[in-house]
Amino acid sequence: MSEDPVNANYPPGTVAICSPLSLQAYFADDVTGTCADCGIAVCFRPYVPKHVIKICVACAEKRAIRKGSKLKTRVTQQTLAELALYYSKGTKQ
Ligand SMILES: [Zn+2]
Repeated sequence: MSEDPVNANYPPGTVAICSPLSLQAYFADDVTGTCADCGIAVCFRPYVPKHVIKICVACAEKRAIRKGSKLKTRVTQQTLAELALYYSKGTKQ
């Protein structure tokens, strides 16, 4: 049985750190939602699966500095490629 490549990148319990919607969205096709911790509006990429917990940057920081935090961060290859594209053009997609 082959593993779904999308879910392999986002196992259950995965948290996506999202940009607050009050800031500029990075890409025109960004999707909006709410931070699971504080409820502010956030935006994220459309390929982030529904089961992934979306939190804002400020809440991610709070989770990271919490005593005994097990929050680990990583970036998918797709995200790296999109960030490289974004910064190479210096403009919104
Ligand atoms: Zn938040």
